Amino acid sequence: MKIARITTTPLFVPYKSPFYWAHGQIDGAEVLLVEVETDTGVTGYGECIAAPNGRAIKALVDDAAALMIGRDPYHGRVLMREAYTTLFRAQAVCSAPRFGGQILAGLEMALWDVLGKSVDRPVHALLGGAAHSEIEYFGFAMGKTPQAVASEAKAFVAQGFTTIYIKAGFGASRDLATVRAVREAIGPDPKLRIDPNESWSQLEAKQMIARLSPYDLEFIEQPTPAESIAALAQVRSTSSVAIAADQSVFTPEEAYDVLRQNAADLIVIGPHECGGLARMTDIARVAQLGGVNICIHGVYETGITACAAHMAAAACPNLDDGNQHMLKFLEWDIVKSPDLMPEAGRMPLLIGPGLGFTLDTENVARAAELFNERLSNGVKS
Ligand SMILES: [Mg+2]
Repeated sequence: MKIARITTTPLFVPYKSPFYWAHGQIDGAEVLLVEVETDTGVTGYGECIAAPNGRAIKALVDDAAALMIGRDPYHGRVLMREAYTTLFRAQAVCSAPRFGGQILAGLEMALWDVLGKSVDRPVHALLGGAAHSEIEYFGFAMGKTPQAVASEAKAFVAQGFTTIYIKAGFGASRDLATVRAVREAIGPDPKLRIDPNESWSQLEAKQMIARLSPYDLEFIEQPTPAESIAALAQVRSTSSVAIAADQSVFTPEEAYDVLRQNAADLIVIGPHECGGLARMTDIARVAQLGGVNICIHGVYETGITACAAHMAAAACPNLDDGNQHMLKFLEWDIVKSPDLMPEAGRMPLLIGPGLGFTLDTENVARAAELFNERLSNGVKS
């Protein structure tokens, strides 16, 4: 089997309502659909995150894809390494392991879809086998006011979700009001984790941890800037609340450093920042060797990534019971089946071949049109 053709299409799938986080507002998922066709008639799909610029990402991914034509898709690790080193002149001046991994992850994802479909097995079977029969997701409560966040959190708990996740980093008084309102609304039992997305200094983190202590947080995710693992370690060394690393870990080497510096109680990883599914399971294994669990990270993504992350996570024994799921934000999806919305916080193992989904081609066309419309309206430079 050889790779015959690779096509990429920038897409925009709108959100139902704005996504608020510490660094602004997001209106939808901008992704690059990657379609890998083989000379045996198998087609695999993946998606790259299109940030910071969909056209620029398309140009880079198309260059990487061109290197793969005529090659064996079963050589995924070698192909991805070659694509990265060639594209970025790595080991010279343009080495960019984080960015390189992120923009090429969709290609790697599509190769896994090809492999699974070619042997009629789900991708978790090719990654060592599923260690879980279902995966638990957290209720991602969001809203414009603390009361709105609290009422969504309460609704998640009523549906059966046992972990609630909320964004923080909106200023100390707002963060405290939100955590207080959510804990009051959900009661003492559900786990509650918060994510300031790198927006606290070490001093602020220490102050906030002290002020948040009455609310029994499960952990605080990436309180300090990602670039300094030492800062995360220093916060954790005096923290009464557990600390998770998210943006501090994109590569297996960074995971190793986080463990070596005792900087986190849990590591948050997704297929995009890890540079694909093989490296996502590599990082999970590094974490496992350090006695640390991982949970799935979500970004601005469609059902393609939800399936890919679910497949890879199923093969990770040290998977946490609160994982991120982003599809509730989408107005509509480009995946037609299966149903990917967790029920009572749980989603069964995906059993379809490859990444386990069927694409909705009409919605792909609609999302491509929306991307182009936004471009012509100057939404993206
Ligand atoms: Mg996070």
